[in-house]
Amino acid sequence: MKRILLIGTGGTIASRQTGEGLAPGIPASGLLSSLGGTGNIQVDSRELLALDSTNITPEHWLMIAGCVEENYDIYDGFVITHGTDTLAYTAAALSYLIRKSPKPIILTGAQRPIGYDSTDSKDNLRDAILAASSDMPGVAIVFDHRVILGTRAKKTRSKSYSAFESINYPELGVIRDGELVVFIRQESGEKPEFSTKLNTKVALLKLIPGTGREVLDFLFECNDAVVIESFGVGGLPEAGGFFECVEEWKKKGRTAVLTTQVENEGSDLAVYHVGSRLKRDLKVLEAYDMTTEAVVAKLMWVLSQTKTATEVERLFYTPVAMDMFPR
Ligand code: ASP
Repeated sequence: MKRILLIGTGGTIASRQTGEGLAPGIPASGLLSSLGGTGNIQVDSRELLALDSTNITPEHWLMIAGCVEENYDIYDGFVITHGTDTLAYTAAALSYLIRKSPKPIILTGAQRPIGYDSTDSKDNLRDAILAASSDMPGVAIVFDHRVILGTRAKKTRSKSYSAFESINYPELGVIRDGELVVFIRQESGEKPEFSTKLNTKVALLKLIPGTGREVLDFLFECNDAVVIESFGVGGLPEAGGFFECVEEWKKKGRTAVLTTQVENEGSDLAVYHVGSRLKRDLKVLEAYDMTTEAVVAKLMWVLSQTKTATEVERLFYTPVAMDMFPR
């Protein structure tokens, strides 16, 4: 019989109405009882956190990874219930903190609480338990009958059941009529590799037409890396001192990564005049086909290991859990 550990962290799936809006109040054991049984799969539960995922921080990512590590040898797979709002960030972070896992580590949540008459909670939880008891390796999100790679997920709908999409990569599988159909298997090792540190001094700036360089200066001053979500395939405004700003902070040892606000197809800085110099002369990194969520989590993981520019570049461009196409 397969043994699964359900780790509860809160989110809508575990929420009740408080009079001042929904808030987590149902423990992981309560989620399980709502299913009325899990067939021939033994599921134990652990209530790790009870948070709306808006309140989740990188400290919590480390706690979740630590809980998986502590219990890794005891269980065949893991289900983590989590709020949907920052679930893609947590999935990406866990993909860097727990690499090459031969066992499934499945994140799920819901758009409507488990106690509501009409809810996606039960289907998502049942599907997640099924995936966690399979031989599918690695970190993935199971949601709305789809299996999405942990490094490729993005929340693209704020209300519908179909809340997540896989960005620039196919879905790993689907769950149809209670059967898991796996299309793609992640690479795994014989044993997982765990990390226990993150450098949280990473910031994200979404450009709008007219953003001034002082915002970027401020972010570089307080952080080791700044991710700039620019436009299209990527670039920076040529007026206003942006290039000089990046150059100055790079000399002081900061990391700059360019990505795009466009959801699909990624960056390619070399294409336009507004981007090519950044890459050629200033050696800024670019996200290519990675999601912003994965870029942020990967930088926190990389910068916890090194701050040497060449090593940061090497680690950043080394694919982990299929987060980017190899270059
Ligand atoms: N605000 C909730 C959360 O992220 C939304 C959800 O779970 O769907 O915790």
